[in-house]
Amino acid sequence: MKIYLFIFVLYGAFELTPGLPDVVHIGGIFGPDDYDLELAFRYAVDRINMDRNLFPRGRLNPLIEKVSPSDSFQTAKRVCNMTEQGVAAIFGPSSRLTSSIVQSTCDTLEIPHLETRWDPKPHHRSCLLNLHPYPQSYSRALKDLLKAMQWKSFTIIYENNEGLVRLQEVLKAHGPSEYPITVRQLGEGHDHRPLLKQIQASSESHILLDCSVDKIAEILRQAKEDLHTVDVEEFRFGRTNITGFRMVDPQSTSLQNAVHDWQYEEVRFGRRINISPNTVRTETALMHDAVHLFARALVEMDRSHPINTSHLSCDAAEKWEHGYKLINYMKFMDRPGLTGHIRFDVYGKRVDFPLDIIELDRDGFVKTGFWDYRSGINYTRTETEKLTIISESLQNKTFIVSSRLGAPYLMEREPKGTFTGNDRYEGYSMDLIDEVSKILGFKYVFELVPDGRYGSLDPKTKKWDGLVKQLLEKKADLAICDLTITYSREQAVDFTMPFMNLGISILYSKPVKQPPNLFSFLSPLSVDVWIYMATAYLGVSVVLFVLARLTPYEWNNPHPCNPDPEELETQFNLLNCMWFAIGSLMQQGCDFLPKAVSTRMVAGMWWFFTLIMISSYTANLAAFLTVERMDVTIESAEDLAKQTKIKYGAVEGGSTAGFFKDSNFSTYQRMWSFMESARPPVFAKANSEGVERVSKGKRGYAFLMESTSIEYVVEKQCDLTQVGGLLDSKGYGIALPLNSPYRTAVSGAVLKLQEGGKLHMLKTKWWKEKQGGGLCKEEKSSSVESANELGLANVGGVFVVLISGMGAAAVVAVLEFLWNTKKVAVEDRTTFKAALQEELRFVLKCHGSTKPIQKAGAKEDSGGKSGGTGRGNSQGPYDKYGVVNKSSKSIVIPQAEYLNKK
Ligand code: GLU
Repeated sequence: MKIYLFIFVLYGAFELTPGLPDVVHIGGIFGPDDYDLELAFRYAVDRINMDRNLFPRGRLNPLIEKVSPSDSFQTAKRVCNMTEQGVAAIFGPSSRLTSSIVQSTCDTLEIPHLETRWDPKPHHRSCLLNLHPYPQSYSRALKDLLKAMQWKSFTIIYENNEGLVRLQEVLKAHGPSEYPITVRQLGEGHDHRPLLKQIQASSESHILLDCSVDKIAEILRQAKEDLHTVDVEEFRFGRTNITGFRMVDPQSTSLQNAVHDWQYEEVRFGRRINISPNTVRTETALMHDAVHLFARALVEMDRSHPINTSHLSCDAAEKWEHGYKLINYMKFMDRPGLTGHIRFDVYGKRVDFPLDIIELDRDGFVKTGFWDYRSGINYTRTETEKLTIISESLQNKTFIVSSRLGAPYLMEREPKGTFTGNDRYEGYSMDLIDEVSKILGFKYVFELVPDGRYGSLDPKTKKWDGLVKQLLEKKADLAICDLTITYSREQAVDFTMPFMNLGISILYSKPVKQPPNLFSFLSPLSVDVWIYMATAYLGVSVVLFVLARLTPYEWNNPHPCNPDPEELETQFNLLNCMWFAIGSLMQQGCDFLPKAVSTRMVAGMWWFFTLIMISSYTANLAAFLTVERMDVTIESAEDLAKQTKIKYGAVEGGSTAGFFKDSNFSTYQRMWSFMESARPPVFAKANSEGVERVSKGKRGYAFLMESTSIEYVVEKQCDLTQVGGLLDSKGYGIALPLNSPYRTAVSGAVLKLQEGGKLHMLKTKWWKEKQGGGLCKEEKSSSVESANELGLANVGGVFVVLISGMGAAAVVAVLEFLWNTKKVAVEDRTTFKAALQEELRFVLKCHGSTKPIQKAGAKEDSGGKSGGTGRGNSQGPYDKYGVVNKSSKSIVIPQAEYLNKK
């Protein structure tokens, strides 16, 4: 068993490098400054030579040539020297000019040529293998990154035409319907400030920078592929977010080991180039990978096809027989390197390669994800990690908070002009930001937005104004006020979770209190009903009168003791009918009642009618007298839309105006066209202006306003009120620039405040406690109490009616008295004056309930017994029943007639 194993090991060793010569020459051509490339090349060769597993016998021998990047002639000569010595491959150079000479020589002699340089226009050469990512694939990675970062508009800064090749996928992916992108070229020289200023003036905050590494430090210290080599110390705590790609991970053990050896090599060669994992260029790492790839392929191929090198002259037509095959072996190798997995397509392009996504944070650049050809962008940081990093980064930041004046969100502190900095202002917004800053640990400076507007998009210029503009121009990090979260604003900026919920409603003046009406007891029924009732009363009286005449059962014997009366009488003469009807209507009744079915039916119906009418009247009277009547003319937005007398408007450029403008609902559309066409204009610059207009408008102007602001106003201005409910439902949020990394953190803080009841406390503080809030609540409660008591003003009319009734009765009594006196004077054959004196004397005596009949001529009348109806009233108006008697108004018919009738 041991013997077999030994044989196998021997055989294996023999099989690994069966035909390779002891020394395999490989060429390296470098520019005079490419020390790091040379170092990597040498170190890789040393490593391979030391790896006896890989290379058990023989060794690689590096032939290094230094050539000037522009000297093609020298390069050609050096390459030919190398080929004459018999090289198995040539690595480098990194200059485009000299590289093409090497390419063509290698192609002619069929010697593998390995490159590590960025080649914007790669030509297909059968013996060439470039380990640098293929430009189009790199361009695709950039495109994927922009898509993942959701950049809509951005500016591309490129240095030269090579950069445009890198960016071609990005440019191609941007359709004509999308936001415009700007492409600018870096100027000559070192001063790029004019260009950067122009970009800043265009309020662009997203920049894609494509330039050489040494320029990045000058231009915002941004970078792409080699971002990790830039000294970014001065940007760590700034307001710039830098994202980039890298092929080499400075944290990887393989790179750190490699760099450690390079540093050793540096000492050995006596040159110091200060190489460290963070300063390794991609090209250097690629050179390391290229040599290892070559060595692996060489060993692999040698297993099946023994290889030996040939001394080839550039002038002869001879080629290296193994060249093509070796290149093909390299193409199909799939192995890890310092620059990720090395894979090629059939044309030798490095298409499928991994890239790390790196972002700048407090600790420098950190890996946040990776890109690969197949799956695109993959972020590897968890949400919690992201949040922690963001929270940490917030500690040293000072945010510029843009806001606008508007009570109670932000107000100038009194006395004005005596405070500086944040102390100049106070209000809900200030308190809220203060609470958020305490949670997240940032500092803040409040600044007022210059135009004082919320933020609306001009459809013509496509430009934003107000707070949104401040954020877009990067003049502010946060924007807060009563800023509504709307769809269009959400396209331009980011919003946190809403800190307040609201809807649009109507602010209007309260109805002016009507002075109590003397005749308010008439109010429960309308004038029409009063007239109808009077008519009904008369009608029923007449019907009763007619029916009573028709029916025989209402005709009675006036002298029940006389079984054979000559006359029959009825009580239902017209006056009695009216008395009966009014008695019922007043719920009092009277002392005679109908007997016949027909008249009883009339009476029943009338009683029913009066029952309902009187109960309705009583119920309504209670409501009318206790509840303050409001002269409400509008109760909803529909009511407003229906009329044109009361004007209405909203804040110009605000979300309320936007709601009506963009609404599909016909009522709101009508309201919008009314508002737009109204002259003088109905729009207000701010809520305060609209409120003033309502309060001075004498119910001629209503203001469409957000419910939270209405709540605040009606707490202090008791003449104003909210009319109707909410037309929509939305919220106020804190705005941040688009894709702001702080959104989640600030949102989280807002939620925390909400859950802890802090937001509610702040609202109570600024709405109800400060600035005269709660004033109108007291007024409301006291007015409710007084509503239950009725003053003379409410019921005075009833007294008036009573007094007038009394007066009228007195007048009638006087007339009756005078009429009777006149009759007495005639009967007594005395003068009217004497009779009047006599009668008055009796009246003024004021005692005695009997009245003597003095005149012999006077007819006997039962009326005399009635106690003071009238002296000598032989034809007194009332019979024994107290009913108007036959001689005056009662109706008597002869019995014959009565019998005939029967
Ligand atoms: N809150 C509104 C906005 O953000 C302004 C006031 C309004 O339109 O009623 O635009």
